[in-house]
Amino acid sequence: MDRQQLVRQLPPVHELVRESAGEHGNYPQHLLTDAAREVLAAWRRAILEEGAEPPGIADLADAVRRIVLDKLRMSLRPVINATGVVLHTNLGRAPLSDDALAAATAVARGYSNLELDLETGGRGSRYSHVEDLLKDLTGAEAALVVNNNAAAVLLCLSALARGKEVVVSRGELVEIGGSFRIPEVMAQSGAILKEVGTTNKIYPRDYERAIGPETALLLKVHPSNYRILGFTREVTREELVSLGRKYQLPVMEDLGSGVLVDLQQYGVGVEPTVQASIDAGMDLVTFSGDKLLGGPQAGVILGRSGLLQVLKEHPLLRALRVDKLTLAALEATLRAYQRKDAAETLPVLRMLAIRREELQSRAEHLRDGIACRAGDACSVTVIDGFSRVGGGALPLTELPTSLVVLRPKKATAAALAGRLRKGDPPVLVRVQEDGVLLDPRTIGEGDEEALVDAVAAALRCLISEQTG
Ligand SMILES: *Cc1c(COP(=O)(O)O)cnc(C)c1O
Repeated sequence: MDRQQLVRQLPPVHELVRESAGEHGNYPQHLLTDAAREVLAAWRRAILEEGAEPPGIADLADAVRRIVLDKLRMSLRPVINATGVVLHTNLGRAPLSDDALAAATAVARGYSNLELDLETGGRGSRYSHVEDLLKDLTGAEAALVVNNNAAAVLLCLSALARGKEVVVSRGELVEIGGSFRIPEVMAQSGAILKEVGTTNKIYPRDYERAIGPETALLLKVHPSNYRILGFTREVTREELVSLGRKYQLPVMEDLGSGVLVDLQQYGVGVEPTVQASIDAGMDLVTFSGDKLLGGPQAGVILGRSGLLQVLKEHPLLRALRVDKLTLAALEATLRAYQRKDAAETLPVLRMLAIRREELQSRAEHLRDGIACRAGDACSVTVIDGFSRVGGGALPLTELPTSLVVLRPKKATAAALAGRLRKGDPPVLVRVQEDGVLLDPRTIGEGDEEALVDAVAAALRCLISEQTG
């Protein structure tokens, strides 16, 4: 048969659409038609150009349905985080508590008193729902919440230092995750950056020399994702605050991660608490809602009432404002700190605090589950290792954990990691030399079974790739 004749064996579009819809017929008609055209065009080309054999209509219909399902699938989906990085920015940072989810759902489903004062019936402020809580929890005079911490810093600088100078230590001109760089946020706000000191050493006199009639603010930035070690000298909060008092300048601290509890009780390392920063006399403090606080993406601004009033009246606030779902989830998260059950109810704190024995037993359980399904396609062992806090917090802290190591017999670890990432649900792992590492610390408590299935499916895919 010549190639033209072979092409004529392909079914017409409407027939393939009918076959693909099958009995259930709940695929959108227009997507079936588009996909059928795409599949037929590809086969026409393959036949004419490469002399391929036309497949049967059942196989063509399978291909059509795969395309349609792919088009209909949610792009933003849950994944299993087996990396052991608790606050992974690419994976959405903090998972929310059940209370935070319930609060967001309740408010999302219907109407709420977002900007209504239920006492008076008059207009209320969306910011009021969390302000008193934040004040009580931290000792701050006033509080405000915006879209994220980058927005918080931008608002503070724009409202208080536009056209004026802000003094910052050279050792604190940080970049966080590529897009947030202190010098660039400063430029965007219209404030003029006045760098002082050297990368590793700074003294109060360096700030003092830079202070002049154009100075609007002294800024301290938490060096989130790096540390300068060795021959160093920092200006402490207290030193900076006393300089601010002396020259009557507000002192601001961008804390980055913002924790409300002392993490040392979990053996996690020293991270300055928000309360310590307020106690030291900082006039403005900003931090993220979705890092160590364990809530939704948000930027919290705490500080003096007078300064916060300026921020509350600034037109930029409207552009950076936080939405009701975030506020609901944030309030519920803060209530856990108010009730003092944050360590038990917030997933981030729970993951940081899991005991070593529990990690070991979860790893062994996972190993047994996977070994049972993997057969001889892959070796499965448990080793000691480390998890990380992530989210720009405590970059040097290594949290001891137990890791499941997968070593596929006939494929590379990188190939297995790729398969797991493309699976359903996607699984994100660490790859080290010839092993895929799974850290039970960050694997959701109900996700073990799905993870075992995903590993089994990924191994099957790898084998069928090799044999087919
Ligand atoms: C993470 C971080 C930011 C940015 O916060 P987002 O909430 O991601 O906008 C800013 N400053 C510091 C020091 C940080 O660690």
